[in-house]
Order: sequence, then C-alpha cells, then structure tokens
Amino acid sequence: MGSHAECTKILGLEGYRVKEVVFDGTEDHPRLRIRIERRGVRGHPCGRCGCRTWRVRDAKDRTWDDLPWATYRVTLVYRQRRVCCRTCGIRTERIGFADSKARVTRRLRQLIGLDCQSMPTSHAAVRYGVSWGKARRAERAFLQAWDATRPKRRPRHLGADEIQRGKGYRFWTVLSDVVRGEVWGLARDRTEASLTGLLTQCLDARQRAAVEGVCTDMHRPYLNAVAQILPDAEVVFDKFHVLQHASAALDEVRRHEFFRAGDVMRAVGRGKRWLLLRRWATVRGSKRRELRELFAANRRLFRAYVLREQLDRLWTYKTRPRVLNFLLAWFKALRWQRLPEMERLGDFLLTHINGIAAYCDHAVRFGVVESVNATIKGVIRRARGMRDESFLLLKLKWATARPIRSARDYARFLGAESLHSSR
Ligand SMILES: [Zn+2]
Repeated sequence: MGSHAECTKILGLEGYRVKEVVFDGTEDHPRLRIRIERRGVRGHPCGRCGCRTWRVRDAKDRTWDDLPWATYRVTLVYRQRRVCCRTCGIRTERIGFADSKARVTRRLRQLIGLDCQSMPTSHAAVRYGVSWGKARRAERAFLQAWDATRPKRRPRHLGADEIQRGKGYRFWTVLSDVVRGEVWGLARDRTEASLTGLLTQCLDARQRAAVEGVCTDMHRPYLNAVAQILPDAEVVFDKFHVLQHASAALDEVRRHEFFRAGDVMRAVGRGKRWLLLRRWATVRGSKRRELRELFAANRRLFRAYVLREQLDRLWTYKTRPRVLNFLLAWFKALRWQRLPEMERLGDFLLTHINGIAAYCDHAVRFGVVESVNATIKGVIRRARGMRDESFLLLKLKWATARPIRSARDYARFLGAESLHSSR
C-alpha cells in the first residue's frame, strides 16, 4: 500500500486524513479498514448546533461503509468524540461525510439510493457489500434528503383518486398535483376523513389558496372533503370515470339484448364484450369488421354504441351552456330508442353536469391523471408487500416526479453536496 498521503488523496474526504490501512475480511469478500482522523483540528463541532468546542467528554471508535476500492469493500474507522457543548449539553461530534446515526457515508448513500430506484434493494445491497437493512435505510435517507430539498409549489389543479390496495375491498386515497403529474400524499381508506387529512397536511394555507380545481371521481365523501377544505376550488369530474359509467351502461344494453337474442345475434355476439367496450378509434382491421357484423345483427346495440362514442364531445366545448346544449341534444337523440339503460346514464350525467362542465373553466389534463395512476399502480405492484406507508409515499413521489431526466441530473445526484434539485 502506498503512503498515507496518497491514500488520503484517493479517499478524498475533505478535512480527514488516512492514519492506517488494514487488510481485512475473507478471500471472497476482501475488505479494507481505513482509520481516519480529522486534520487541521480547531475544536470539535457539536452534532446539533455545529459550534466548536475543545471540551471532549469521551471518544469511541465508529465505522461507516464507504465506496469500494476496486475489489475491496471499504470500512472507515473514526474515533468519534462526544463533546460538551455550551448550548446543547453532551452531543456526538458532527461528521462531515455522513449524516448523524447513519452507518454509510453520504456518497455511498447516494449510490445505493440511486440504484434502488432501478433495481431491487437486495441487488443494490449485494453490489455495495452491505446488508439488506443497511441498503434499505440508505435508500430511505436518500429519498428523504431529496424530498426535503424540493421547492414548495402552489398547484393550480389537484387530483384526488382512489387506488385499490391488495386484493380485498381496501383502498388508498392518493392526492396529486395534476399540472406537473406528481404524487403529494397517500392515505388509507377512501373516506372523507382521509382526503380531509391529506388536504390539510400536504398543503399549507398558501398552497390551498392557489388551488382552482380538483379532479376527482363522483365519490361523495371526496366531494364533501373538497367542499369543506377548499371552498373556492371547483370539482372537475375525471373524464375517465364518467366514460366508465357510459361503458357500464353500454354493457347493460349488451346483456339485455343478448338475453332476448335470436340465433344470428348469439352467433355473432358471443365473446364480443371487450371488443364492444373499446373505443371505435382504437379498433382496427378485422376487429372493425366483427363489430360491423355485430351492429348489423342488432341495431339497438349499434345506437347505444354510437351514443356512447358521442359522449366524448362533452369535453370539447369552451362554455358551459354549450355543454348543456350538447347533452340535451344527446337526450333528444335518445328519445323513442327504448334504451332505458342509456336514459338512466343521461339522467346521471345531467345530475353531474356541473362537475363535467367545470372542464370549460379548468382544463385539467386528464392524460396526466391517467399516467400518474398508471405509474402508481406500477410502483405498488413492484413494492408488493411493502408495509411502510411513508416509504411507499417517498417511492411514489420519486417515480412520478421523475427527477432524473438527463445525464446532468444523474450526475447531480451522485454528488451529494450539490443536491439542490429543481424537480
Ligand atoms: Zn451544540
């Protein structure tokens, strides 16, 4: 091993010098134990306030895992003091290269944290020669440090949605900023209390005042919570949820028609449920022909399908009266068709016309809402069995905010000191 001066240079910890390097570990897992000490000591900084003092109470060897040197894992050993601070009392000395109580250095934490975003924690743990628990704690610290440096934005449009949790009838309530497509909060259940809690905890008064519209489904507890906490904000119904009701009505028509169908209809219509529920624009080639055959066999199904397709136009108008006019015209087309399921859908739309027409004033980006939901489901699927909700929320925030979009962003995360993310 070269001189300690060279080792100090390679280690590159500002303010510390290498005192001793010991080869350690097994043949399979060689390890270097590097003993370091502070240089240019001008008193020892207190762990809480950072004030320097000479009054040392005691000292103890502590270790930190650091970046590997070629095939060697590295353990840093430093005799950390406990100082008697004038203002704080007895505190451990502040360490420049690691957070207090952390067992890995800050630069290793950044690497593990970054890797954990693209590979399982167990893989990252093997890669850096640390235990799974250590890797997990490093990842959490990494995400927390990132989250703490993010600016407090004032979102114009919020989204409140429910996500199924596990297999049973259990849900999360997810609060997100649908302008930037970022998750903000996560709460159990889908009650009024869960959304009320999210709106008051995740947003301060200044942020709440900036909210103009909240995109949600027609779930009554959510509407109550929004009305109570954000009285000035308007509710915009999620287009996807509204069209889901339309598809359900179309499915009812199909079931009803099939029930009293003749031989031709039975032959053509079998196994067409999912094809029928798809939008015309997404159906191609031979599938379109199948649909046409089905419609030729049953005109009522065709009319119901067309009526469902037309509902898309509800979100193309710029003023509220036009939305209402369109819906009334839609109702008119329904007359004499004897489609009670679609008539019920029409009544449903009419009672919710305010939330649908609110889109004229608050053009919520429904595509962003859908993509956020898809990302959330992906993260929850990968993190199956994760019981720690605060950790899951951090993961969701990272996945939806996508702070790394370029090589430069990535480089910034590798250097822990310059962690001033704008995302
Ligand atoms: Zn102090």
